[in-house]
Amino acid sequence: MLRVPGVVKSGDGFGIYVHIPFCRSKCPYCDFNSTVPGELPEARYVSALLREFASAIKEPRYAPYLKAGSLYFGGGTPSLLSPSAIGSVVEAINVRGALAPAAEITVEVNPVTVDIHYLKALYGYGVNRISIGAQSFSGNQLKTLERAHSTVDALRAYEDARSAGFKNVGLDLIFAVPGQSAAEWISSVETALRLRPEHISIYGLTYEEGTDFGERLSGGLIERVPEETELSMFKEGVTALSSGGYQHYEISNLSLPGFWSRHNMNYWLGGGYMGLGAGAHSFIPGGGVGYGVRRSNELDAERYMKRALEGGEAVGFTEELSREEAMTEALMLGLRSALGVDMRAFRERFGTEPEDALSRKSLFSDGLLCTKEGRLLLTDKGLNLYNEIY
Ligand code: SF4
Repeated sequence: MLRVPGVVKSGDGFGIYVHIPFCRSKCPYCDFNSTVPGELPEARYVSALLREFASAIKEPRYAPYLKAGSLYFGGGTPSLLSPSAIGSVVEAINVRGALAPAAEITVEVNPVTVDIHYLKALYGYGVNRISIGAQSFSGNQLKTLERAHSTVDALRAYEDARSAGFKNVGLDLIFAVPGQSAAEWISSVETALRLRPEHISIYGLTYEEGTDFGERLSGGLIERVPEETELSMFKEGVTALSSGGYQHYEISNLSLPGFWSRHNMNYWLGGGYMGLGAGAHSFIPGGGVGYGVRRSNELDAERYMKRALEGGEAVGFTEELSREEAMTEALMLGLRSALGVDMRAFRERFGTEPEDALSRKSLFSDGLLCTKEGRLLLTDKGLNLYNEIY
């Protein structure tokens, strides 16, 4: 069985997520909470984050969970912020003792927004992991995706991250781009293999409602890659990366041994997390009382800043998880990862067997699920058909 590196071994971890909801332009397939500001409100946004954090950390409910094993800046495009702005957030969180000494600190970067000086400065502020939104190493596909960067920009960002000192670099790749052949997809995978980043995420392109691509698809203006081709692209990508020494530790994520993303593993294993920033989500585990509380912040960046700066908090929505919701979540998230669901922990938490909580009882006989060393796991077939399980 694969082992989790680092601090996260079960659902008792904790992470901090900081959302930066700004981008230079809106990609036509993107449904993330991001906006294109006329002028980047860097100072105001960072002040709002610091106010929100200062207020959240006083909450007794968070006390048992800090120190966090990971801090993750996601977006949007976090690398639109200056290194000193990101550094000031890292420092404010660290100075309050909220980070474990060897915490994984990640910043997502867009290749066109960084250079060697930028990355060196981030490294100097204690950031120790970079996730590069390369998406593809084909100029044609980057054009189809209307990305602002070129293949050369992505390669340069990767080399700059290495030169700046980063020993933990991730690359994101998208497959099933309209017009993309299987050979073109594998060519991007092979380029990633040659670069040898510690972490590679592979995502099939989705057509979400409300996005340009979603509308173009329903208007017949764009043709999506057939489902079977998409599935074979996924399988071929996983096979090529696995043969290259990468562990397929979560449906969309592979890494060299020892480099599973702590931030993501904490999430999949049901650990708690504090989300800061516009639209960020938080989850505070029940700690033996109840099944945990989920919160999400005000989505709109302007309203978020106003509320956080005025009152120190910007929670838009809070809910206590019911037992049924918590069971479904534990199964859905846990099964995504190679560690699966710890059956004893599940039994102790919910007083029932995880198999009994599954909505579809034929998953074992259909060959999608198995048990191994006390864990409920997806089989290889199940990994490919995860979306059919729920
Ligand atoms: S850069 Fe990322 S977050 Fe921003 S619009 Fe494009 S896909 Fe969305």
